[in-house]
Amino acid sequence: MTKPKYKRVVLKLSGEALAGEQGYGINPKIIKSIAGQIKEVAEMGVEVAVVVGGGNIWRGKVGSEMGMDRATADYMGMLATVMNSLALQDSLEQLGIGTRVQTSIEMRQVAEPYIRRRAIRHLEKKRVVIFAGGTGNPYFSTDTTAALRAAEIEAEVILMAKNNVDGVYTADPLKDKSAKKFDELSFLDVIKDGLQVMDSTASSLCMDNDIPLIVFSIMEEGNIKKVVLGENIGTVVRGKTNDKASNR
Ligand code: UDP
Repeated sequence: MTKPKYKRVVLKLSGEALAGEQGYGINPKIIKSIAGQIKEVAEMGVEVAVVVGGGNIWRGKVGSEMGMDRATADYMGMLATVMNSLALQDSLEQLGIGTRVQTSIEMRQVAEPYIRRRAIRHLEKKRVVIFAGGTGNPYFSTDTTAALRAAEIEAEVILMAKNNVDGVYTADPLKDKSAKKFDELSFLDVIKDGLQVMDSTASSLCMDNDIPLIVFSIMEEGNIKKVVLGENIGTVVRGKTNDKASNR
């Protein structure tokens, strides 16, 4: 069997990825497929931590546009990520994969609180760890959470799973037919050119901590495995300088 390229990864799943075409809520077929793909790489011995978004249920920005207090609306978004995380945990457990959900906002009846050393211990024991609740702070995103947790647990890469694109393009490929896909680019390019990869806080955190990111489509079965094996699907976004990043 080919050896995985990475030992420890953070997989970022947006809420949208769980919703599928319906765009809202959780699509049982899709979450099952994603859980199956995670199982595949976990069984290869890769330590997998997952950061789950909440946009399929609630986004803070929408609430604040409706006139709600932004922080309150953001806390609702963080709670939405907990619902998605529990759904993913359930799907993984149905496939026989040991998991722990850790929340950044304490809710001990539901899941463990986030404790960095404990998360690392679970990963070493080959449990899939799901980080729920984002960073626990309003005004942040789950992309930033992925960058933060990846730095904290010393993951080698962030795998950013997309449901509607298969990489980073010069323009939105769904709207602009002439848009071209990048094979590789730097976080500086992402920030400078305002590319829709992740928000600038998350990009800066990845850049400053030299954490590479791979953007790819999760809609094809087996893609997480391909990425973990080092196949060139999607787009690689590297740290500050390509030289430094390629040494990782
Ligand atoms: N959120 C937050 N702080 C965080 C992470 C998330 O306030 O650290 C809130 C924010 O309102 C956001 C919502 O949770 O809109 C859902 O997260 P996100 O938009 O990142 O989910 P995704 O787009 O990945 O589905």
